[in-house]
Amino acid sequence: MSIFSWIEDEKNLKLLNAPKSGHRPGDLSLWIRCENCGVILYIKHLQQNKRVCFGCNYHLQMNSIERIERFIDAGTWRPINETLSSCDPLKFKDQKKYSERLKESQEQTGLQDAIQTGTGFIEGIPIAVGIMDFTFMGGSMGSVVGEKITRLIEYATAQGLTLIIFCASGGARMQEGILSLMQMAKISAALNAHQNTAKLLYIPILTSPTTGGVTASFAMLGDLIFAEPRALIGFAGRRVIEQTLQEQLPKDFQTAEYLLHHGLIDLIVSRFFIKQAIAETIILYQQAPTKELGLLAFKERHRLTISQEEQLRRLVENSSNLNFSGLMKSFFHLVTGKKEEKTGLLKLKPLPFSKAFKKVPKVNKYKRVKFLIPKTPKSDIIDV
Ligand SMILES: [Zn+2]
Repeated sequence: MSIFSWIEDEKNLKLLNAPKSGHRPGDLSLWIRCENCGVILYIKHLQQNKRVCFGCNYHLQMNSIERIERFIDAGTWRPINETLSSCDPLKFKDQKKYSERLKESQEQTGLQDAIQTGTGFIEGIPIAVGIMDFTFMGGSMGSVVGEKITRLIEYATAQGLTLIIFCASGGARMQEGILSLMQMAKISAALNAHQNTAKLLYIPILTSPTTGGVTASFAMLGDLIFAEPRALIGFAGRRVIEQTLQEQLPKDFQTAEYLLHHGLIDLIVSRFFIKQAIAETIILYQQAPTKELGLLAFKERHRLTISQEEQLRRLVENSSNLNFSGLMKSFFHLVTGKKEEKTGLLKLKPLPFSKAFKKVPKVNKYKRVKFLIPKTPKSDIIDV
């Protein structure tokens, strides 16, 4: 080992052991060390510079609160499901109880879990956004993160919004076991409806670090995948791969640049231009002449509000004598607010899922649609 490589190793080791830059809202420290070049930075100036190092242009970690401030048009952010909070289904305990860890993180960050979801505008364009927060238990994906993302996707699908998710995660949350792993499939299924059925746009933005279960699901399912410069993106850790393959990996392995070169991501955008890049991409997509039109199930097109759901439940409960067409009429009236004067002419577009009903006569659009109800034992539950 030459003296220069020894100095280089020592410097890297020092940086590795230095306190990380995860600046929390309650943290009153004034200075921070750059993870990449080791330069000491004044936090106030760093925040003004979107947490990009003055010395080496490295993009330091940014929490979700700051990201919303910098990324979403001022005053347009509307959070969704912010009160969702995780319980401890496995009663998991390592050095500390999971419930205690959760409570600690909630107090430190002021968030309920490792993601904030909601709607807002960028450059005047409405979008649905999910922003993961690495400062909350390493941005790990538990059942709450999965559920919030799924609900956000479903909301974006129903409202026809473009979906943007900022990924920053250490992977699935081990304290919730299989419940956190099943979120990967759940999110992917919701994304399938968003992208392939409704033909809406989804862009994930990979920030440092995006690893584990997040990389293995929604981070890689985007129509276009953006990443921040020099972001760490991978599935398993570098050491695990090296030990398994018994090979030395390249130095820039699992960086955004390496992945762009190998075709896994589409674009690397600096934090200074990400807002404009997304706005331009959405406009380009919206104006595309060959764009396919999406299909949505009736249920998705006319989503019920909570009070409408309750009205419908009562209607079904109190309607022992009501026949199916009568029930459909009431449902139609409830959803659209229109009373269909002519009986039996319910204007429903035949949808692909109508094939599920047996012997549906072939009818022209807007003509009488006859649904045959499969014979089942009497039940109060009707799937709308
Ligand atoms: Zn630096």
